[in-house]
Amino acid sequence: MKELRSSIGFLTGGLKERLIQEALALRTRRAESGARDSASPEPVAPVPTAVPASESVARFDQLPGYRQLRLLRAGAAQLGIENPFFRIHEGIGGATTIIAGREYINYSSYNYLGLCGHPQVQAAAGQAIERYGTSVSASRLVSGERPIHRELERALAQAYQTEDCVAFVSGHATNVSAIATLFGARDLVLHDALIHNSVLQGITLSGARRMAFAHNDAQALEELLREWRGRFERVLIVLEGVYGMDGDFPDLPRFVDVKRRHRAFLMVDEAHSLGVLGASGLGIREHFGLHGSDVDIWMGTLSKTLASCGGFVAGDSPLVEHLKCLAPGFLYSVGMAPPVAAAALAALEVLQAEPARVHRLRERGALFLDLAREQGIDTGTSAGLAVIPAVTGSSIRAGRLAQALFRRGINVQPIVHPAVPEQASRLRFFVSSEHTPEQIRATVQALAQESEKL
Ligand code: PMP
Repeated sequence: MKELRSSIGFLTGGLKERLIQEALALRTRRAESGARDSASPEPVAPVPTAVPASESVARFDQLPGYRQLRLLRAGAAQLGIENPFFRIHEGIGGATTIIAGREYINYSSYNYLGLCGHPQVQAAAGQAIERYGTSVSASRLVSGERPIHRELERALAQAYQTEDCVAFVSGHATNVSAIATLFGARDLVLHDALIHNSVLQGITLSGARRMAFAHNDAQALEELLREWRGRFERVLIVLEGVYGMDGDFPDLPRFVDVKRRHRAFLMVDEAHSLGVLGASGLGIREHFGLHGSDVDIWMGTLSKTLASCGGFVAGDSPLVEHLKCLAPGFLYSVGMAPPVAAAALAALEVLQAEPARVHRLRERGALFLDLAREQGIDTGTSAGLAVIPAVTGSSIRAGRLAQALFRRGINVQPIVHPAVPEQASRLRFFVSSEHTPEQIRATVQALAQESEKL
């Protein structure tokens, strides 16, 4: 509630009061229904004895979340901040993009190595359509299996030095489905405090107990394990290879050591790390010179560096076979569309054939970070790879700053509560190997000037 009050401090009179009342009502309803933060099973709601008197229970426009959304939009409009979401990009989202006929320098797409739109990737997708069509028209288990699925999975397993790999149609669904399938009510999942939403959703669905440890803090994890390990059957630890909001990365060898001593599984989400970390872009495993088997579950997405759509889990054969036969999000879902699988495979091939792209990306990221720091911009803990935040400290400042930059031809997305805590509101810059040093210099200069004005 304190967070909400500070985030809407700018609103005046009735609007502010209504928003607070709505939030209080939502909290009361949640408390009454027994909803909890932790993933422990919710108590069964009492059986209603009569049809509720108010018709609001049968209207979507009365849903508390929706009403809050409307009020926040009204607040932003009151301040003259245009809605920065759902903007229509008219072509490929790369280092530049076209919105409403105007070209912008673009930092809102995770096309890290410029492989979305790469001729080899385009051609592979086209050839896959010609050969297999646009859909496999069935779950892989039944009649949806195509050679391109296994080719992609073998290439990913090789990249992560694992026995096998399975590809899912969505990155988000990969985490949800894998965690919920592998863990249950007798288990504990420990995750970095900044872990992605898809992991949290997976834990909730699994019914396992959930605990967060301080960001990148292996010691805090160790303490939790000392206290809790003995009370659970299996324990999963989840990290990201590069954190998608903050752009830093964990000291993975330390976490590997901790997980071994406590007989736990370790899962690393490589969404923002593949193509970014490591001498040839093969992610955090390569960066630290670890072996694939040091981590139990390598998870990744195909939507960033690999210029496609979907996710994967790479690991031992029993893990992969288990997921292929028992994960509902795989089993009861259509197989990956051929052009989607072919695009990801071709992108992985280009990445491996052209490591210069990875080096260029890191040079550009480092340049952005150095210049931003020189200008006194708060870039948090970013390592200057592909994700660089400019922390504004309030959602209003983030919204205003993004709008000011947009007017100057720079497209960057504000990230606000509830995606991050209100005081951690920020602009998030996705840097790509295709940004030129001139574009980066112009951007940081504009960012510094507009921040000053605010
Ligand atoms: N994991 C992380 C760390 C992410 O940032 C995201 C979202 N980009 C996902 C998983 C989900 O992946 P996708 O968008 O490909 O579904």
